[in-house]
Amino acid sequence: MNEIKLNIRDRRSCDVLVVGGGVSGIAAAVCAARYGMSVILAEKNCFLGGTATAGLIGTFMTCCDAKGEDQIIKGFYGELLDRLISEGSAVSPEKCKVGNSYSAYRIKGHKGVAPYSCEGLKKTAEEMCLESGVQLMYNSVLIACETAERQVKSAFFATDSGVFEISARYFIDCGGNAMLCHLAGCETVFGGKDGSVQPASMIFTIDGVDKKLLDAYMEDNPEMRKRFFMDEIEKGFADGSFPCGTKKLRIFEAPNGTWHVNMAQTDNAFNSLDPFETAAAAAEQRQQVGIIIDFLRRTIPALKNIRLLETASSIGIREGRRIVGEYTLTIDDLKNSVIFDDAILLCSNSVDMHQKSGVAYSTIDCEKNYSVPYRCLLAKEFDNLAAAGRCVSADRAALAAIRVMPPCFAMGEAVGTACAIAAKDSTALRDISIEKLRSRLKENGAYLG
Ligand SMILES: Cc1cc2nc3c(=O)[nH]c(=O)nc-3n(C[C@H](O)[C@H](O)[C@H](O)COP(=O)(O)OP(=O)(O)OC[C@H]3O[C@@H](n4cnc5c(N)ncnc54)[C@H](O)[C@@H]3O)c2cc1C
Repeated sequence: MNEIKLNIRDRRSCDVLVVGGGVSGIAAAVCAARYGMSVILAEKNCFLGGTATAGLIGTFMTCCDAKGEDQIIKGFYGELLDRLISEGSAVSPEKCKVGNSYSAYRIKGHKGVAPYSCEGLKKTAEEMCLESGVQLMYNSVLIACETAERQVKSAFFATDSGVFEISARYFIDCGGNAMLCHLAGCETVFGGKDGSVQPASMIFTIDGVDKKLLDAYMEDNPEMRKRFFMDEIEKGFADGSFPCGTKKLRIFEAPNGTWHVNMAQTDNAFNSLDPFETAAAAAEQRQQVGIIIDFLRRTIPALKNIRLLETASSIGIREGRRIVGEYTLTIDDLKNSVIFDDAILLCSNSVDMHQKSGVAYSTIDCEKNYSVPYRCLLAKEFDNLAAAGRCVSADRAALAAIRVMPPCFAMGEAVGTACAIAAKDSTALRDISIEKLRSRLKENGAYLG
């Protein structure tokens, strides 16, 4: 194939380039900028949040310890959450009692969740970036990068006015699919050795839920907090009246009185890195939404008047490409509650392995806190490239736990802080003082044991 020559429209430079404005990218950019770094945050959408907003997720998963007692992910996430709560854009974790509508009526692993408004998150995240001096670069799709020996030199973005080249001292890949690391030539992996990958889901929002009736039904039928209408759904699968979607009712209340439904899912896991397969899966799941709404209206009295508000503008990808970094976090590290010397966050999130439609996902509850080491964020091939969020170095099962948003925020905070330390000390990212990094994170509210 002929190489395509890029006509560069504009060139900029900064200390830290963050690619991807999802939750990890927001935290990385703000935290680096607060230490005086000039930061550009490049994002292909025209808003921040990534999966959190474009995917209509709507609930920050628990940030509590394994006993569900203390909040152990704080720092930037805690600050953002407090701000969202004060603006009426999130519900305080204290109000999200186990088994209530905010925790999707779940009784396990949902203590300390926090529902948020996607619009509120877009606005507040943007404000926090701008207040800290982050330069936002929207409608910009990363397409190439230039490297020399162990350094990434610059990244190239397709924009509406042509190609922009951004050079930087440090690069952070928060793109969800490790595209920057992939383009730089780093070792990456996708899915399992057998080609399996967790299914993607298209979340949608509804109104018209009779909350009083649903709350009362759940209260009067405690077994429903385990069954979640599985019998009715199974019957629908068997007689063909409900031929798609997940096996359990998955619905939860948002702060603004609307509800998020996480039930559309494609039967065969598809390759989310392939644009044609992604389009086919998105179209299929959008078709499922009508079928699911119709089934819920017919089956659950409290939902008989529900109406569709919107489907997610981006299909929710649980598992994309991830880096093979300096260290790969394993499921055994989680099971053995390993607290690494270079831990940058502690958490207790359960391992949620989603499977194909009609099959309940498997969950491993973690009985003790575990940690994520700094080395999982480091690209081993380069001195100035790191990753954060769902594309970090972890095996599939470990990723199935740490991919939820509170740990993603904390990873972003750690890597943004690390870049600032590396820049001030003129070192490679792997050579920074771990003691300094951990004490900065603690000063900013992180709990590291
Ligand atoms: C169906 C589903 C349900 C979930 N439920 C929950 C839940 O209830 N609670 C919870 O806490 N977590 C949940 N998660 C997990 C969580 O939402 C994500 O793992 C997390 O938000 C990922 O954040 P991130 O910053 O790593 O990546 P992303 O949110 O994927 O952000 C990546 C960003 O990079 C941008 N980008 C990508 N490629 C490029 C490019 N080439 N150029 C420029 N920009 C680019 C994207 O537009 C995006 O904004 C769920 C995930 C899914 C899919």
